[in-house]
Amino acid sequence: MRTQIAAANWKMNLALSEAEALVDQLIAVPHQLNNNQLVILAVPFPYLIAVQNKIAGKKNIFVAAQNCYTKKSGAFTGEVSAAMLQSIGVEYVVLGHSERREYFKEDNSLLADKVNIALEHNLKPVFCCGEPLAVREAGTQDKYVETQLQESLFHLSEHEITGFIIAYEPIWAIGTGKTATNQQAQDMHANIRSVIAGKYSVTVADSISILYGGSVKASNAKEIFSMTDVDGGLVGGASLIADEFITIMNSLK
Ligand code: PEP
Repeated sequence: MRTQIAAANWKMNLALSEAEALVDQLIAVPHQLNNNQLVILAVPFPYLIAVQNKIAGKKNIFVAAQNCYTKKSGAFTGEVSAAMLQSIGVEYVVLGHSERREYFKEDNSLLADKVNIALEHNLKPVFCCGEPLAVREAGTQDKYVETQLQESLFHLSEHEITGFIIAYEPIWAIGTGKTATNQQAQDMHANIRSVIAGKYSVTVADSISILYGGSVKASNAKEIFSMTDVDGGLVGGASLIADEFITIMNSLK
């Protein structure tokens, strides 16, 4: 079975004391995570080490950075490199979140560079894709997402893309309280899998964990995660509330 993942995206929220209290609450509950289930906490850069220390020794719970830069090192004030993340033992990095695409003008080609540098430093990307509302209304979302994958991921070798994590996040559902229907999520996830199968193989496509993101909460996680091609979720707002996220973790199949 594919790896099922509950990923928290804290975005630019919480003071350190709040972040630590949240993690304390999450790990206070003995989670029955199977070998095929993972929890990933994408936390702000300054909290990576503190959260890592808190979860040390906890099975199947990892931290992720929310971004990294395309270059290894140098005069890039304010940026954080994949090499730095690797040097502190981070294993995951979120790339291509729609907020980075929109506010920081990250395009598919830049994201291909970020994916490459992340892989060079043994980081596992959680690669985000998804269409804006206008594209959904025009009915061209399949092609839109396919182009995102082609331009940012399809230069990878079969070996590099096997086991990859992709998060499908329709932009119109992020932070809006508006969730894609289970069927809309399933249809897009199946489309992503079939595009990957066409480029690589069915075996590769079947190895990829495709997370759904967009207003996932305790009350809807179980039904969304139960869809055949949905392998968990990338969760923003609800991941900041311990009880909500614990229920979401427990909703993984
Ligand atoms: C996200 O930040 O990736 C996200 C899906 O946010 P929310 O769950 O708040 O919609």
